[in-house]
Amino acid sequence: MTQIAAKPAPVDFIDLKAQRARLGDRIDRAVLGAVNCGRFIMGPEVVELETRLAAFCGAGQAVTCGNGTDALALVLRAKGIGPGDAVFVPTFTFCATAEVVTWFGATPVFVDVRADTCNMDPASLEAAVAVARRLDLRPKAVVPVDLFGQPADYDALAPIAAAHGLWMLCDAAQSFGAGYRGRKVGQIGLATTTSFFPAKPLGCYGDGGAVFTDDPELAAALKSLRVHGQGADKYDNVRLGVNSRLDTIQAAILLEKLAIFPEEIAARQRVADRYNAALADVAVVPRLIDGAGSVWAQYTIQVENRAGLAAALKEEGIPTAVYYPIPLHRQTAYAHFPAAGALEVADRLAATVISLPMHPYLDAATQDRIVAAVRGALG
Ligand SMILES: *Cc1c(COP(=O)(O)O)cnc(C)c1O
Repeated sequence: MTQIAAKPAPVDFIDLKAQRARLGDRIDRAVLGAVNCGRFIMGPEVVELETRLAAFCGAGQAVTCGNGTDALALVLRAKGIGPGDAVFVPTFTFCATAEVVTWFGATPVFVDVRADTCNMDPASLEAAVAVARRLDLRPKAVVPVDLFGQPADYDALAPIAAAHGLWMLCDAAQSFGAGYRGRKVGQIGLATTTSFFPAKPLGCYGDGGAVFTDDPELAAALKSLRVHGQGADKYDNVRLGVNSRLDTIQAAILLEKLAIFPEEIAARQRVADRYNAALADVAVVPRLIDGAGSVWAQYTIQVENRAGLAAALKEEGIPTAVYYPIPLHRQTAYAHFPAAGALEVADRLAATVISLPMHPYLDAATQDRIVAAVRGALG
């Protein structure tokens, strides 16, 4: 009788079930507690979570909201961004970073990224400001993105922003929990936003987001704007706002997840270290700038034959993903906005990046399997 070799079990790209198995009882109790309490909107868990999030990252205040996209938009709304304003965003990011700028009739101006970190290139920001001025736009703000979990190079970006009178809004949807030269993400810029989308490093069981700031006036405006712009009298709306609150149930879930988040970040670092050691000779592995940490939202390498690698891994039951295959300046809805020149680095990254399975519960045996498959395909 011939024996057919069993295919090894498929690998998860992000294994949320492992975390669920670990936290299951605690989360079940927390959800049930919130349900039985009955304060579904802005319940006590939301207030407690905001206190804990601010303490966790050392920000003056945390203001939660409906999702990471709204978090960005709330800050732009609070700052009165509007038509004729230029807001500088990297072209190599998730669309939300630029999308929110257009909601207010302002103009996103695309900035190139660095080849080694995939984050905003300071020289390209300088060029983008000049482009905006030539177009008679008012340079107002810059939104660096901490792609894949590593903070952008804020020490290099901040002086350029300051020289042109730009305030900085840090899109930390992928990097909440990371450190940058003695500070934590959440303490940098005028404000920092994050997302609790399930697949982010700190994710809930639905949509959620938050803004961090040390500016009490901005925090007060955000708290008003997320509830239709309400004033001291809740029926006297003092601003034109939106409805964007974090559900009490999601806050209850996040409180449990935040408690183990530092351990999970350490586990992600161990996974990244193993990948780095095992793959540096066959692919371009991620590089961290001096003094920056990463929470490894993605582990992304750069290879020439990406399609070949993806196909070979798929054959072995190993999923991969491409973040991002098309830079924003080449996407249908965004191609007409101005850009700082040709943005060639982003174009090249879009053709070569590929992300491997990454999560805190990736065990060494499974990771060895992934590494062997990657080396087999590239070697
Ligand atoms: C996920 C993400 C967002 C949007 O967050 P949502 O919660 O999905 O709205 C914004 N920017 C970046 C860089 C992201 O990765």
